[in-house]
Amino acid sequence: MRLPPFQYLEPENITEALSMMDTYKDTVKIIAGGTEVINHMKHRLLSPAFVMNIAKLGDLGGISVLDHEIVLGASTTLKEIANSPVIKEKCKAIAEAAFQVASPTIAAMGTIGGNILQNTRCMTYNQSEIVLTGLDSCHKRGGTICLAVKGSTRCFSVYQGDMAPALIAFDAQCILRKSGATRTIPIIDLFTGNGVQPFSIGSDEILTGIIIPKQDGTSGSAYKKLRIRGSIDFPLVSAASVIWVGADGKITSSRMVIGAAGPAPRMVEEASLAIQGQLPGEIDLEALAGMAYGLTEGADNLAMPGAYRRKMARVLLKRAVQEALEDVKRGI
Ligand SMILES: Cc1cc2nc3c(=O)[nH]c(=O)nc-3n(C[C@H](O)[C@H](O)[C@H](O)COP(=O)(O)OP(=O)(O)OC[C@H]3O[C@@H](n4cnc5c(N)ncnc54)[C@H](O)[C@@H]3O)c2cc1C
Repeated sequence: MRLPPFQYLEPENITEALSMMDTYKDTVKIIAGGTEVINHMKHRLLSPAFVMNIAKLGDLGGISVLDHEIVLGASTTLKEIANSPVIKEKCKAIAEAAFQVASPTIAAMGTIGGNILQNTRCMTYNQSEIVLTGLDSCHKRGGTICLAVKGSTRCFSVYQGDMAPALIAFDAQCILRKSGATRTIPIIDLFTGNGVQPFSIGSDEILTGIIIPKQDGTSGSAYKKLRIRGSIDFPLVSAASVIWVGADGKITSSRMVIGAAGPAPRMVEEASLAIQGQLPGEIDLEALAGMAYGLTEGADNLAMPGAYRRKMARVLLKRAVQEALEDVKRGI
């Protein structure tokens, strides 16, 4: 498959990159690792006039460990994150999510920024141009129908990124820059919940970094994922869990997030409230798992039936919480 024609831009530093974004706005597509953008361009899901490569911008790479936070440059590769001793030690679920993204080759190219900002997916959308030509235009392709959920007035495409659920479980923030302005928002707020336009990032903004706050106390975390082929596939549903306990052994705070459950990761806030102040042995895992089930959409638009994916949200959340609690016991 051939790429459509485009003009290639390669800024030398972040200031030049921001200036290009300001100039070209909606007509420019950022490319970092390119593992999604190139595929989508070949399938004609994207045909940008300009493609701006940010992979060589030194300012966007690397993992910095500061007193109160860990900062990941947006172009840090998933391989670097999966192999980072500090991420494995302090934020195990994030390293586990990175390790499970796609395949080793894609993880070596793919960046954390590109992973977070990957588009939502659907079996009726992620097709080649030839197949799409034979289908009516759905909401995501500018139409007014949903091909997956008949009669739906909204898009049911699914956000299948692995990294965002794990990062949200750690309450991570993202740094968004445009010419003359910077804002930092929780990663959960980057998501609109609308599958047609899944992100609230401006057309002139660049994601430059991710801040993972360090928290006091003993913690445990885990990331669990359902996929068809363990060696490469996107999550069909996933669960991330982070649990902190105080000196008395009681849970001081926790965050649980379900991925591939709809157009955005979903925080299981009711579950976090339910276990606050409890001892690990007192937790009703079945009740928590039921809350994850209730939050998962489970439309029949990915490689496995929606009803099965919903059931697996229940199973994966339970496993993620169990493993996080085991980590806590071991004092990780
Ligand atoms: C076969 C296959 C399997 C895959 N499996 C998985 C999987 O299991 N889990 C998973 O999560 N993903 C998977 N992916 C999707 C994708 O490859 C990864 O998510 C990867 O991390 C994307 O990163 P990238 O740097 O290559 O993104 P790119 O393709 O470069 O960019 C992706 C999107 O992010 C935008 N972008 C990138 N960086 C920035 C930035 N700094 N600021 C603003 N916008 C930015 C781009 O404009 C684009 O919209 C898979 C892809 C393939 C082809």
